[in-house]
Amino acid sequence: MYHETIAAISTPAGIGAVGMVRLSGADAIAVAARVFRPHDTKIKLESMRGYRGVLGKVCDDNGPVDEVVAFVYRGPRSYTGEDVVELCCHGGSYAVRQVLRLCLDAGARPALAGEFTKRAFLNGKMDLTGAEAVMDLVSAQGRGAMRAAFAARDGALAGGIAALVEDLTGHCAHIAAWTDYPEEDLIPVDEAALARTLVDILGRMRVLLAGYDKGRLLREGINAAIAGRPNVGKSTLMNLLTGHERSIVTPEPGTTRDVVQEKVTLADLTLNLSDTAGIREALDAAEQEGVSRSLRALSGADLILAVFDGSQPLQENDRDLLPRLTGKNVIAVINKADLPQTIEENELKKSIPTIVEISAKTGKGREVLEKEILAVLELENIDPAGAIIANERQRQCLDSAAGNVEEAVAALNDGVTLDAVCVCLDCALDDLLALTGQRAGEAVVDEVFTRFCVGK
Ligand code: GDP
Repeated sequence: MYHETIAAISTPAGIGAVGMVRLSGADAIAVAARVFRPHDTKIKLESMRGYRGVLGKVCDDNGPVDEVVAFVYRGPRSYTGEDVVELCCHGGSYAVRQVLRLCLDAGARPALAGEFTKRAFLNGKMDLTGAEAVMDLVSAQGRGAMRAAFAARDGALAGGIAALVEDLTGHCAHIAAWTDYPEEDLIPVDEAALARTLVDILGRMRVLLAGYDKGRLLREGINAAIAGRPNVGKSTLMNLLTGHERSIVTPEPGTTRDVVQEKVTLADLTLNLSDTAGIREALDAAEQEGVSRSLRALSGADLILAVFDGSQPLQENDRDLLPRLTGKNVIAVINKADLPQTIEENELKKSIPTIVEISAKTGKGREVLEKEILAVLELENIDPAGAIIANERQRQCLDSAAGNVEEAVAALNDGVTLDAVCVCLDCALDDLLALTGQRAGEAVVDEVFTRFCVGK
């Protein structure tokens, strides 16, 4: 049913060394053979084995368009599970577009967004979590995100869900057999033991759900805002962490007017740092705008680095910051540790339990700060290769499954019939199978793949 041959440019637009046109479908090799001539005339694309490449030219009626390496993959041993040809040409956009046009003229149709991966899913090459991981691989910005996406692509989450499915199916089958065939000589359902097992399954689901936010930090990076009154050393700290001068550092208070953003690598994670303007009474409209952006950055942050000047007693506008930090992950960064310290650290500790002393100027204390960032967010022990819920769709499926198991436990405890328990467990199974795509509706599958780019 998915035999129609599709083609798309799989490399990004723009000038590059190599550009690739990918074909997939029953006629992929035949279509490619219509536009591609191997230099070695004895070689025929149609008779090449899979996982082989050959150098040649793509030609139109007027002669050669580009020199190209054609790679042939034979289904099912290909990305999509169908026959696939990848035509690797020179990366100027003209050559790639021309090669694509010739493939379309030769019988392929343009691929839709995510259609290659959708075919891989429909052909059983990967489950829905694996397909979603492909997109995360493409957009990964750091090592942790990359490792997490690879693990998901290799089935880390799918494996965890499959184990839950297997356990629930076993219990459902037993209950169904017991209630439907009472005359058979079956082992009776031990309701107390069943309740205990379901609570255990629920616990495993909750662990996965709890990892969702950490997974997001791993994938998207930690949004960290540097806050503090003017002149405490926010820009200097930003420059220290990024390793280069970006924020303007001057001895004049209020110089940082806009929110300066930078990405910093921290262990396996990415820190999306925002250096906020000093939050204070603004003197003019530009500064006012800076202040409101700072407040927005603060409210959206996963972590706030609240900077204080250790060489001065706490000031009014230091104290003003404290109420804005309640309920947030905060580290009090006491800066200027290279100068004699006069700050009331004990007073600060009452509002912010985690305190790190640092000199943004000399770099002293940087490592402790980096360690504390991971500790405050409870990210020190996160295993990117473990089963991690990667997106809202997956989270909702699992959340609903957990809700249904919870209902089953409640039904058991309330002495409701085993039939009712079985209905709840069936619903939980449906949710889990929707998560992996084994029982996902067409609309859900389409929705997943429309978020892909064309050519993937
Ligand atoms: P911001 O307004 O909070 O961004 O502060 P800046 O980063 O612009 O720094 C204000 C002043 O404090 C500048 O003169 C910096 O050189 C100085 N400063 C920043 N960090 C340190 C530090 O760790 N030690 C010392 N002695 N001075 C610092």
